Parts: sequence; structure tokens; C-alpha cells
Amino acid sequence: MQIERVGIVGWRGMVGSVLLERMLAEGDLAGVGTTFYSTSQVGQSAPDLGAGPSTLEDAYDFASLSKQDVILTCQGGDYTKQVLPRLREQGWAGHWIDAASAKRMDEDAVIVLDPVNREVIDRGIEAGIRNFIGGNCTVSLMLLSLGGLFEADLIEWMTCMTYQAASGGGARHMRELVAQMAMLGQQSGSLLADPESGILPLDARISELLAHEDFPTDQFGVPLAASLIPWIDSAMEAGDTREEWKAFAEGNKILGRQDDPIPIDSVCVRIGAMRCHSQAFTIKLRHDVPIDEIETRLDEANDWVRLVRNDKASTLAELTPAAVTGTLDIPIGRVRKLRLGPEYLGAFTVGDQLLWGAAEPLRRIFRILRDHD
Ligand code: NAP
Repeated sequence: MQIERVGIVGWRGMVGSVLLERMLAEGDLAGVGTTFYSTSQVGQSAPDLGAGPSTLEDAYDFASLSKQDVILTCQGGDYTKQVLPRLREQGWAGHWIDAASAKRMDEDAVIVLDPVNREVIDRGIEAGIRNFIGGNCTVSLMLLSLGGLFEADLIEWMTCMTYQAASGGGARHMRELVAQMAMLGQQSGSLLADPESGILPLDARISELLAHEDFPTDQFGVPLAASLIPWIDSAMEAGDTREEWKAFAEGNKILGRQDDPIPIDSVCVRIGAMRCHSQAFTIKLRHDVPIDEIETRLDEANDWVRLVRNDKASTLAELTPAAVTGTLDIPIGRVRKLRLGPEYLGAFTVGDQLLWGAAEPLRRIFRILRDHD
């Protein structure tokens, strides 16, 4: 379809800046008139994409927004709730592409993850859907890593035990994790530097710092460095958290199987990684499938997933946040049949939650819409 003008909102936030970097690297905005918006820096310089200097427009200027064929926003759910209904009421018929969760479960929106649900996306476009929303980062990474099993409908039920990075909370959370690490390092430095000092004094010093009133916890509420937090987002009625509920609700919507959902349960845990989420899966297969067939299906499902051999050297080299960060790779390893029985499978995956977990599906739906007849 003809996209002459795109408006980008939220481009300087964490997801937005990764998205813009990727769109520029892939030439997605070539030949498209691009307007940058802000809620707080109206009139300041906008990024120069080669068309000469321009300034930031007001993200609440409805007359300006309504001139766009596509609005791409990473500004957050409150912005979506404030702006989109009013734009639609005023008759705006453009396409809305959004990183926020606010509209994901609405009937007039498709959650986009094209390597997994291109058919659902195409059906949505044909049906006239105009709201395309990126999925939750953990859910998108889970579906990409297990694409081969979902595609063959081999999963009867599953659990995801997650190990989620600080970046999921936003830029300020990443900074706080590093500030916590810095305080621990700096204030235990003399004990660490003395190899003759016992381990117990060092451990006691760290415990004391974690409990200290000056320990930086404004964002997380409690220490994350040298600890973990087994709660992400708000409480749901069933005792799970919203983050845990999303694997079931969003996961089945992305797969287009709300009428026949796969039971998926999770325990989502924040850990001290920077921007890669990891997940351990326990999967009940619909029937006993040979392990070599499972490995082939996993490895060949899409261009980004890659099977990692289930040995120590391969796992340490390829299946950690430190190895995966900043890449589009979705390694899946530790794949084995469980002692529970031949239909039970274990696996572990890692993915960059700002790339495939957030920015990549958004830039790809922009391309899909642009290339659509
Ligand atoms: P963010 O980093 O907090 O940025 C959101 C907005 O905050 C920016 O667009 C900017 O708007 C404003 N802002 C204020 N001070 C800023 C500063 N010092 N640096 C940069 N921006 C600043 O939010 P985000 O983590 O990118 O998340 C955006 C949306 O994506 C949310 O709805 C989130 O739920 C969703 N999402 C996030 C992730 C994730 O992993 N973080 C993953 C998937 C989806 P102005 O320019 O208008 O001031």
C-alpha cells in the first residue's frame, strides 16, 4: 500500500531508539516522509534522516497526526489510550503500529510476530484491521524459539520459567541495576582486593549493603544485583502476575487459537541481566516425538532460531545473555526428554528483548504494510 507519510512517536525512549536504529540500518524509511513527535520536547531538533533539519512536532497535535498514513508509537499505553480513540473518532483511517500493551487484546488489533503469525497478519490486513501491536517481549521470544513445535501443533501444554532482564522495566531500571552493582563493587573493594581475607566477611559486607537505606532501589523497590525479584507487573485474580498471564493470553492470540487455546503457565522472574530475557520450558507433547525430529523442527522453524547442542561448552559459549545481547539470534538449547515420560520435553532459550522482543516485529509490520498491494 502507498505509505507517503509516517509519524514516529516515542523514538527517543528505549524501545523507540532501538527501533529507529534498526529502521535506519534496514532502509525502512527511504522515500517516506517522516515526522518525529514528542510529548516533552516540541520544537527541538528532530533526527535528520537526510532530508534536512526539522523540528519535533507535538505528539498531541491531532491535526498533524491525522495527516499521517502510519503512526508508529513506542510512547507507552497511556499515550495510546489518550490519542488513538480520538483520532479514530475524528475519522483518521491510517495504520497504527504500537509497542504498548494497551490495545493488544482488542478485537480490532492484531499482535504482530510475522515469522510465527504471518497468516494471522495477512488475514487481518484483508479484513481491514488498522491496528498492529507488538507482543510482550517474553511471549514473542518464547514463540520464536518454539516456532517449530507450535507450527506442527505438537504442544499440549507448557510452562515457562523466565529469567528477565532489567531492560524490561525501561532505561532507568537498567541504570539502577548498574548503580547497584557499582555500589556493591566499590564498597567491598578492599575486602575483594585482599585474597587473604575470608569469604564470610565479604559476604557479610554485601548483605549489609543490600539492606542499607542508601542502596539504590527507587525503580525496582528492592535489590536486584546479588538477588532476584520473582514478581513482574501487577497481580491477576488467579494468583499469577499480568506478565505471567500474557504468555497464555497473548501467546494464543498471536497463534490465532483463542478458540482452542494451549494452556501455558509461567513464573516470571526479574534477574540482573541487562537486555536479554531467558526462559526454561517444560513441555507436554501431544505424543512421543523422537528427539532428532524435535531438534530439526526447532532449528528450521525460522531464520533466527538456532539449536544449541546440549553440552557444557556449547551452552556456555552460545546460550547466555552475554553471548546473545545485541543480536537477532534466538538460540534454543538444553533440549532433552524429561524423566517425567517420553512426551515431556525440557528446553532453554535466550533472546534480546529489545530486538525481537520489541523493535523488530514493529519495523517488519511497517515493511509488510508498505509492500502490500
Ligand atoms: P521509555 O524508555 O520510558 O520511553 C518512553 C518515553 O519517555 C520516550 O518516548 C520519551 O518521550 C519519554 N522520556 C522521558 N525522559 C526520557 C529520557 N531521559 N530518555 C528517553 N526518553 C525519555 O519507554 P520504553 O521502555 O521504550 O517503552 C515504551 C513502550 O513500549 C511501553 O508501552 C512499553 O510497555 C512497551 N514495551 C517495552 C518493552 C521493553 O522492554 N522496555 C518491550 C516491549 C514493549 P518524549 O520524547 O515524548 O518525552
